[in-house]
Amino acid sequence: MTCMKAQSLITGFINDELDIGELERFILHIQSCKECREELEVYYALLTAMKQLDEDKDLSDDYSEELNEKINRAQERIIHLRYNYYRKKSALIIIILLITVVFSMYYYLGVSEEENPVKESKFRLRITFMEERFDKPKDEIELYLKEQEDNTPRQ
Ligand SMILES: [Zn+2]
Repeated sequence: MTCMKAQSLITGFINDELDIGELERFILHIQSCKECREELEVYYALLTAMKQLDEDKDLSDDYSEELNEKINRAQERIIHLRYNYYRKKSALIIIILLITVVFSMYYYLGVSEEENPVKESKFRLRITFMEERFDKPKDEIELYLKEQEDNTPRQ
């Protein structure tokens, strides 16, 4: 994040208007950039004092300490949201794994189903083979029996 971008987010930070991504990058910048941190402190003191005057409240003694607390709260919020994000992400990973397992099972079932037609055709092949082998002799046997019957002298 550039200093210009960070400074444009200062009022948003003070009024709690930043989204979590902006907030995270803003705090990261504030912690590493002395200039922007000072800018933030000035704005924070100014805006908070104006707000307190507006609301007829007593002015704070230590704006710097208040700002530190605000930054700490924001960091806790980021950690909390990030934890939730990773929790949701791991839940998603578990769901994807489950889906993968289910699909793998379907895949293996699918393979065994595909094996069935092969077995069936093998079976059919065997029947055809058996028909060829046994039906013809059966026909011949029938023919033979018929001939035998015809040749038998009638009484
Ligand atoms: Zn800066």
